[in-house]
Amino acid sequence: MAQVSLSNIRRMYGEFTALSDVTLEIGTGEFICLLGPSGCGKTTLLRILAGLEETTAGDLFVDGTDFSKVPCHQRNIGMVFQSLALFPHLSVGENVAYGLDVRGIDKATRHKRAEELTALVGLPGLFDRPVSALSGGQRQRVAIARALAIEPVLFLMDEPFSALDAGLREHLQIEVKKLQRKLGVTTIFVTHDQNEAMSIADRIVILNNGVIEQAGTPTEVYARPQSEFVANFMGTNNVFDVEFTPGQDVMWNGISLGRPTGTMATLSGKGKLSVRPEYLRLAPVGSAGSQMVGTVEFVRLLGASIETELNVDGHTIIDTMISDRAPEFGEGDQAEVCFDLDHAWVIPS
Ligand code: ATP
Repeated sequence: MAQVSLSNIRRMYGEFTALSDVTLEIGTGEFICLLGPSGCGKTTLLRILAGLEETTAGDLFVDGTDFSKVPCHQRNIGMVFQSLALFPHLSVGENVAYGLDVRGIDKATRHKRAEELTALVGLPGLFDRPVSALSGGQRQRVAIARALAIEPVLFLMDEPFSALDAGLREHLQIEVKKLQRKLGVTTIFVTHDQNEAMSIADRIVILNNGVIEQAGTPTEVYARPQSEFVANFMGTNNVFDVEFTPGQDVMWNGISLGRPTGTMATLSGKGKLSVRPEYLRLAPVGSAGSQMVGTVEFVRLLGASIETELNVDGHTIIDTMISDRAPEFGEGDQAEVCFDLDHAWVIPS
């Protein structure tokens, strides 16, 4: 359990900047997800925390200790990688106890701790089984138990569930979150999957090209994106390039999106509006007074919701609605696209 302080971390590989001025405070017991597209620097940051990678510049303190001076093997960090690196010839119990063995913990204590952890991750009956005879999900649990057995100050996970099928992945996400809450261990979890990050993180740190675009709770990054990149990266979204004039309608693409109220009514000049698909609704042309009219190009059922893609003057607009009834509009139909400006978010410029 630890409080982590990263300030102005930079990592260069020759001329290439993999991380640039990364500054972040992580509270004791927090569950952080590092999220971003491939190559944005997530793994590099995790490896710096683990001591597997050096920084080019910047400071890293954990519980007030300058971690850059602590070698990797003395950092007491639990790690789970996508490739689990379990010992296939050893049993579940031996794998879980491995880190304690290396630390010279006596056999009885190791055994007891390994039994506790094996039970905690839901594998109590498999203590003596070789890991080569386990399913993918069971191996994942062994890797988690092994990382936690040493009572790490930091628990680091790098895309641990990406090789698992969707159902098992969701199940393990919930289990890991519950386990982390129970143990209170400060956790940093790398993923490129927005839904995974939203469902498990206390706070999501979104990286892009080696810089932090935004760090916030799942609600903050979803509902109040601070950049167009975050607005588009966190789930499906509609971003409109609009023109504000104080006291006048908000204009997009030559049409009115309505008269704003509150602070939006005081804005002037060009801006970007983010409107989530769940805040749009479709209506028959001429029925709702919206100037935004489009042609339905694609309709798909996503279980609980229906997603409709429309073409409005060459722009793609996405609408979602709960799927408690048949879609009102089919491909080729025309529809008015309606939304309330109160549900639109102005992306800071
Ligand atoms: P992914 O989701 O694909 O794993 P990532 O966000 O974890 O990506 P990193 O592995 O942190 O990305 O890599 C960040 C950038 O640094 C990438 O462009 C990568 O090619 C580069 N990089 C990483 N390690 C090295 C290295 N040892 N030498 C040169 N470049 C590297």
